[in-house]
Amino acid sequence: MIEVENLTKRYGNVTAVDAITFSAKHGQVTGFLGPNGAGKTTTMRVLTGYMPPTSGKAQIAGYDVFDQSMEVRKRVGYLPENVPLYRDMTARGYLMYIGEIRGVKNRGARADEVLERVGLIDRAYSRIRTLSKGMRQRVGLAQALIHDPAVLILDEPTIGLDPIQVLELRDLVRELGKEHTLLFSTHILSEAEQVCDNVVIINRGKIVANGSPSELRTTLAQGGRVLVRVDADTDAALTLVRELPGVDHAVVEMDGIAVTPKSADFDPRPSIARAVIEKGWNLIELRPLAVNLEEIFLELTRRQETAVDEVAAEEEEMEVAP
Ligand code: ATP
Repeated sequence: MIEVENLTKRYGNVTAVDAITFSAKHGQVTGFLGPNGAGKTTTMRVLTGYMPPTSGKAQIAGYDVFDQSMEVRKRVGYLPENVPLYRDMTARGYLMYIGEIRGVKNRGARADEVLERVGLIDRAYSRIRTLSKGMRQRVGLAQALIHDPAVLILDEPTIGLDPIQVLELRDLVRELGKEHTLLFSTHILSEAEQVCDNVVIINRGKIVANGSPSELRTTLAQGGRVLVRVDADTDAALTLVRELPGVDHAVVEMDGIAVTPKSADFDPRPSIARAVIEKGWNLIELRPLAVNLEEIFLELTRRQETAVDEVAAEEEEMEVAP
């Protein structure tokens, strides 16, 4: 179990992680999803006890990551973005060495067990420098597993792998998720959708959404923006939907028109459908816009940016107000 409450991490005056709260359950894969620089690595470093938070709290298996960092390190396996592997060691030798540092008993047997688990037992005696990138990533995963931790934290484990290696690693992550609390970061939306039971979306250090991929889809589909495609002149179609009651604004997006209703409770689809048919146009498509994580992500970050812009505009107005 991972529990994070109001966690903030600043580097000087850069707020990398801004009062985030979320939890990750045992027996589930939780995806930590966000673009470059969102704050994923920073959060993971704090969670693994490698860096203290500026404020807030985080617990791993009931232990505080800062006050009880030794207990935390015993219970967490971490695969950093770049694993420091010793290239001249064999895979098995390296795991024995890491096992020794972590106080693992029966190191040989345990090294074989984890090599088996990650599908590398036949390369146990190969030097790391002779292994492919995907195999090295699996050695990295094996070192995260060597001390049999309850919690696994994997930072972008599929980055730089070829498509087949990516699929293999995702399968392994799903398997490991059944027996661990597994948090893994990615900036690939489809990856999160395929692998995770739960997704925490982070952007600019703040959590913008949290839920199962299907929950996120449903929440955002309700009363959210809709996409309409009609067999008609785009300008004429834009004018038509913009004038409908309950429509706030409409813009050309993707291959159709994205319509934002004035209220989140209002579904503009029936009136759009009616208006298009009354015009005698063919309605090609009419659907909620946020149907996959890609669109959800764009929608959430768009909302966050609008909110930030609105606050900035208000502050500007206040400054010029007499
Ligand atoms: P990526 O996917 O690119 O690794 P990320 O989501 O993991 O991104 P972080 O690496 O946590 O993001 O970075 C979050 C923010 O904190 C960024 O603005 C980054 O520039 C900044 N940052 C990260 N590490 C440091 C550091 N050691 N000193 C100063 N700023 C840092």
